[in-house]
Amino acid sequence: MAKSYHSAAPRQIRHARPQANVSALPVAPRLAYIAGMNSSPKPVHVVGGGLAGSEAAWQIAEAGVPVVLHEMRPVRQTAAHKTDRLAELVCSNSFRSDDAALNAVGLAHEEMRRAGSLIMAAGDAHQLPAGSALAVDREGFAASVTMRLEAHPLVTIERGEVGGLPPAAWDSVIVATGPLTSPALAEAVGALTGEDALAFFDAIAPIVHFDSIDMDVCWFQSRYDKAGPGGTGADYVNCPLDEDCYNAFVDALLAGDKTEFREWEGTPYFDGCLPIEVMAERGRETLRHGPMKPVGLTNPHAPDVKPHAVVQLRQDNALGTLFNMVGFQTKLKYGAQAEVFRMIPGLETAEFARLGGIHRNAYLNSPVLLDGQLRLKADPRLRFAGQVTGVEGYIESAAIGLMAGRFAAAERLGRVPVPPPPTTAFGALLGHITGGHLVVGTGSGGPRSFQPMNVNFGLFPPVEGWRKPGRMTKRQRAEAKKRSITSRALADIDAWLGVTRAAAE
Ligand SMILES: Cc1cc2nc3c(=O)[nH]c(=O)nc-3n(C[C@H](O)[C@H](O)[C@H](O)COP(=O)(O)OP(=O)(O)OC[C@H]3O[C@@H](n4cnc5c(N)ncnc54)[C@H](O)[C@@H]3O)c2cc1C
Repeated sequence: MAKSYHSAAPRQIRHARPQANVSALPVAPRLAYIAGMNSSPKPVHVVGGGLAGSEAAWQIAEAGVPVVLHEMRPVRQTAAHKTDRLAELVCSNSFRSDDAALNAVGLAHEEMRRAGSLIMAAGDAHQLPAGSALAVDREGFAASVTMRLEAHPLVTIERGEVGGLPPAAWDSVIVATGPLTSPALAEAVGALTGEDALAFFDAIAPIVHFDSIDMDVCWFQSRYDKAGPGGTGADYVNCPLDEDCYNAFVDALLAGDKTEFREWEGTPYFDGCLPIEVMAERGRETLRHGPMKPVGLTNPHAPDVKPHAVVQLRQDNALGTLFNMVGFQTKLKYGAQAEVFRMIPGLETAEFARLGGIHRNAYLNSPVLLDGQLRLKADPRLRFAGQVTGVEGYIESAAIGLMAGRFAAAERLGRVPVPPPPTTAFGALLGHITGGHLVVGTGSGGPRSFQPMNVNFGLFPPVEGWRKPGRMTKRQRAEAKKRSITSRALADIDAWLGVTRAAAE
C-alpha cells in the first residue's frame, strides 16, 4: 500500500471558501480568480508554514492561485518552535538593520515591501524600539501572519506533517520546512537526491523578565544614542561589567557545563551566530570586541566610570515585559546558564522566560541540486525555499519564499517565471544559492564551497560611477559605493516588479 504523506491524520483543516472575500483581493488576482471560476487553477502546495512558507503562500494567493499550506505544528513540534503560529521566530526578534541605503538586509526589507511582502507588512505593524534595527513583537507578528493567511480566500491551511516525499498528485510543491525539517521528509529528499544534507549549528539566546532586572544598576540607552526608524535612542537595557567582573564571567563561561553533540562532531557553527562560550574560547578579549563591547554608551549611575564590558538586552514583546540578551546564544546547560548569567551586574535576580539552546541546522547543497528557479533538478515539480536552501536569517528565508511563491504562481498561470536581476538583493541571494557563490575572477569557490550566508554587499556585482570629484576618505568611498549599489538595486527591482505586473495583466 502506498505510504500516506501525512505521518498522522491532519488536524484543523480549513477549506478555502471560494465565494468569500474575493472583492478583498487586489485587481489582478481578482480578475485571475474570476476568470478561473469555472476552471480554477490547481493549488500549489507549500510544505512548512515558517518565514519562507508563509511568504510563499501569500505571494501565490495574491497572484490569484489557490494554495494549500501544510504545517506540522502543533501536531508535531520541532526542537526550537514553541507555538502553533505560522512564521514563529525561533530566536532573536530582530530583522536586523532597516537602512535600505547603506545595509544589504535593509535593502532586502525595502525590496520585499515593494513586492507586497506579508512578512514585512506584519513586521512593520508590530515594530518595537530597537535603534536602527527593525525588531518586532514576536507574538503580535506571528499572530498577524497567521490571521492574514487564515483569512485569505485562496489559502487552505492543513495541520500535519508531510512525512515523506509529497504525493505525485501534487504537481507543484514548495518545500519550505526550514533548518529543522522533520527527519522523515529530510530522509526522503536525501534518498531522492543521493546527497546527505549539509549542516551547521545555530544557537538561541535567553529571554529575561524585565521586572527582574535591577534598573538601579542598569540603564536604557542605544549605542551612540541612535534612534533609528522605530526607536527613541534609549531602546536597550545595558548591564555594566568592570574588569574583575568580566574576567570572572569569562572564567565561569569557560568552566560551565555545556551540551555536546558527539554524533555530529565536526559540524561547524554559523559564524554570525557563535555561542558565547565558543567566542570566549577564542580569547579573553573576544567578547569585549563582540556582543559585550562597551562603546557608545555612558552609565548614568556612574558617568565618569567607563565600563570594561556591557551586556545589552533588547525589548522582545509589545508590553515591554520581556527582554532578550543580544548576541548571547549559548550551549551552556540550563542549570549553568542561570548561574553564570546571574553573575552579570543587574541580572543577579534575573528570571528567565526562556533559556538559550543549540540546534543542528540542515540545508541542501543547492548549487548542485536546484535550478535557477529553485526547482529540484531530480524532480522539478518540487521547489525549495527558505533556510533549507542555504540562506541564513529570517529575512533572507522569507525573500527566497517570496521568489519561490512568485515563480510557482507564474508557472501555474502559464507564464514563464522571470528571475530578479542579479543587481538586486533578491537576485544576489538567488545567485548565491543557485550559482554557488563563485569567486569572481578566480574560478574557484563554487558548489563545493557552498556555505549558508546572510545577504551582504559581497554578493552583488561590482558597481561603477560612485566616485565623486576630489579626495574621498575610506569611509566616504565605502558609503558612496553602498549607496550606488542600493539605488541601482531599487531601480532594478522596480523594473522587475513592473515586468511581472505587466505580464499578469
Ligand atoms: C536554533 C536556531 C536559532 C536561530 N536563530 C535565528 C536568529 O536569531 N535570527 C535569524 O534571523 N534566524 C535564526 N535562525 C534561523 C531561522 O530558523 C531562519 O532564519 C528562519 O526561521 C528560516 O525560515 P524557514 O521558513 O526556512 O524555516 P522555519 O521558520 O523554521 O519554518 C519551517 C516550518 O516547517 C515546518 N515543518 C518542518 N518539517 C515539516 C514537515 N515535514 N511537514 C510540515 N511542516 C514541517 C516547521 O514546523 C516550521 O514551521 C535560527 C535557527 C535555529 C535552528
